[in-house]
Amino acid sequence: MYYFDPHIHMVSRTTDDYETLAKMGCVGMSEPAFWAGFDRGSVDSFRDYFRQLTDFEPKRAAQYGIQHYTWLCINAKEAENVELSREVIKMIPEFLDKPNVLGIGEIGLNKNTKNESTIFLEHMELAIEYNQQILIHTPHLADKYQGTRMILDMLTADSRVDPSRVLVDHVEEHTAKEVLERGFWAGMTLYPVTKCTPQRAADIIELCGAERLLVNSAGDWGPSKPTAVPDLILEMRRRGHSEALIRQVVYDNPIAFFSQSQNFTFTHPE
Ligand SMILES: [Zn+2]
Repeated sequence: MYYFDPHIHMVSRTTDDYETLAKMGCVGMSEPAFWAGFDRGSVDSFRDYFRQLTDFEPKRAAQYGIQHYTWLCINAKEAENVELSREVIKMIPEFLDKPNVLGIGEIGLNKNTKNESTIFLEHMELAIEYNQQILIHTPHLADKYQGTRMILDMLTADSRVDPSRVLVDHVEEHTAKEVLERGFWAGMTLYPVTKCTPQRAADIIELCGAERLLVNSAGDWGPSKPTAVPDLILEMRRRGHSEALIRQVVYDNPIAFFSQSQNFTFTHPE
């Protein structure tokens, strides 16, 4: 089955991973801008990172028939440096016309601090000004429930934000329903050790239905598994779900969501 990984950090993966993903049916992916494992020191290191995301990664992916898209921002961890964050936000429009840029993300909260909220709102303003879609990172573990509520409240307080153009990622059992009920798209991030397993994701699909629900691997530089989406496909088959339902979650939904972005020119494989 063909699938699309809507949230995977390929800058931290090898070319061999691209090959493995292609062999497993991955035909498209989107890569949100994120933390590098250390705080970057200047706006120029973000400019170089964005060049990597908009120039180098799409070429590396294309060698394996994978269409690569990306999202730009300064992530919540580095948002504590408000001055640097503002410089990055000011620089982002330089890249918004690059052919693989889908919008602003992954923005969100990490420790739910005041500075993080300030920079979140300024990213939101940027997205509105440039008519961009938004991809959201919700905090992990103990901060998740409260952080998700704070994010949803900031988004819905502004009537210019259209929830159907916002994807809220890293949802779990206690946050998925509210995200969907408030009209947003929701993404589940599959991790082998912590966070959502393929089994829990299958449970959530059974509980909430497949509408506006996506699944991704994160595939970052931490303990993660870039082939986690095929693990979910297998788990859903094992439970007897139809191929049409599985394809809706791993292929049709991401494509329907991304199609709202003017730069999304995905071509279906023959
Ligand atoms: Zn991420």
